[in-house]
Amino acid sequence: MSSDVPSSTGASSHSTVHFCRSRHRGRRCTRPLDHPGLHRHRAILWAGAAADPLRCAGSGAQGRAATPLADGWPHGRALCPVCLRFVSLVNDTLAAHDTSDPAEPASEALRRRDWFNTIGW
Ligand SMILES: [Zn+2]
Ligand SMILES: [Zn+2]
Repeated sequence: MSSDVPSSTGASSHSTVHFCRSRHRGRRCTRPLDHPGLHRHRAILWAGAAADPLRCAGSGAQGRAATPLADGWPHGRALCPVCLRFVSLVNDTLAAHDTSDPAEPASEALRRRDWFNTIGW
């Protein structure tokens, strides 16, 4: 295992680690949010200008409401084939959305896991 994680110079410990949202060809930067320098995923480095747009490539794609769980979740939303999240439908196409949503509640991720376990693809 490589241990090139930059050691913290601050005295305070961070209770939550937020990761950088930049992606390059679908690979997510594994460095912390607001890190200096280039984005990085394993041996691949990229500059901000080369990053994928935050807008998910699935935005605007044809979609249809996913099979609901017993309680109706995800309530008519469609599974985006690109980011694998549930997205609202607008006229049978996926509403514009980002590849990740830091504000997404934990309950959403749990339900999504339920859905994959119960219904899957
Ligand atoms: Zn980054
Ligand atoms: Zn998406």
